Amino acid sequence: MSSKESSEGKKGSHQTELYEQVPASCLPIVYSPVYNITFMGLEKLHPFDAGKWGKVIHFLKEEQFITDETIVAAREASEEDLLVVHTKRYLSKLKWSLVVATITEIPPLVFLPNFLVQRKVLRPLRTQTGGTIMAGKLAMDRGWAINVGGGFHHCSSDKGGGFCAYADITLAIKFLFERVEGVSRATIIDLDAHQGNGHERDFLDDRRVYIMDVYNRHIYPGDGYAKRAIKRKVELDWGTEDTEYLPKVELHCEGTLNEIRPDIIVYNAGTDILDGDPLGGLAISPQGIVKRDEIVFRAARRRGIPILMVTSGGYQKKTARIIADSILNLHRQHLIGGEALEEAGQSMVPVMMSKSVSAGAALNAI
Ligand SMILES: [Zn+2]
Repeated sequence: MSSKESSEGKKGSHQTELYEQVPASCLPIVYSPVYNITFMGLEKLHPFDAGKWGKVIHFLKEEQFITDETIVAAREASEEDLLVVHTKRYLSKLKWSLVVATITEIPPLVFLPNFLVQRKVLRPLRTQTGGTIMAGKLAMDRGWAINVGGGFHHCSSDKGGGFCAYADITLAIKFLFERVEGVSRATIIDLDAHQGNGHERDFLDDRRVYIMDVYNRHIYPGDGYAKRAIKRKVELDWGTEDTEYLPKVELHCEGTLNEIRPDIIVYNAGTDILDGDPLGGLAISPQGIVKRDEIVFRAARRRGIPILMVTSGGYQKKTARIIADSILNLHRQHLIGGEALEEAGQSMVPVMMSKSVSAGAALNAI
């Protein structure tokens, strides 16, 4: 299938609203209030903070990094958009509340008529999915983009799970392969605490996609079949801390990007690696998460490779603050934002090099 697609050129097979032009005055940060799942308190039955995306935006506004006018409004992925990756059979199954309840791990959804499940749960997830696809195009145009949601890395073309109903990472990459000239190789850097078995299954035999995955080896999903798709696998044990984690991330990010130079990096920046996360089982500090994101962005930006970040797992109460702090830190380090664009010419490289030396020193001190 893959070779056939590429030989057919870059025409894209359907009309989509997700690739429309964005004003140059906007930062490539994608979000919509629709992302947040709220339904008469039902969301409180879930172990997740289902409003974390809105809180990230709130903090970024509070720090005057963004306004409603300077970010990009996510659009909902249409059925045709979803069919670029998903099977009709799978999308039809989502019309059963039981199936959605199982995938999202919100058991009470079983008792809701499907039109409410569609409106209150699947529409937010489809909008986040649209956001990731839009951010893919934006990353190519601007050098970087962040979807404040998305990162549903357990979902593949015909199977959802682990809260993931749509395969947004696969979709974003396939859209780029089909529609953007010059994009024929992608690298996924998946640093969520869980193995990203969804995109791994989707790209199992696709040599255009290089996957690096760092995850807790003892937790869900433990998908041995999908692991065959991982080119660089870093399996962690319970309670892994910053001192072990950050050097590994840096070593393997650099190794991955030295091994093959992709046209786009998709960075799945799950924060369930945070100490105390009930699902992740790792023990990374908030500062460690901020540093991790900096390491990945620096590796990408220093090489001039476009990077798309999605926020993925991690739903503790303090998670939103950490994601916002990390985005603000990327800006402070000149890795994102207007300054980065202006300096992207000659001055960018020396700035990055000197920063990287200081980052190395800070790393040893953590
Ligand atoms: Zn996770």
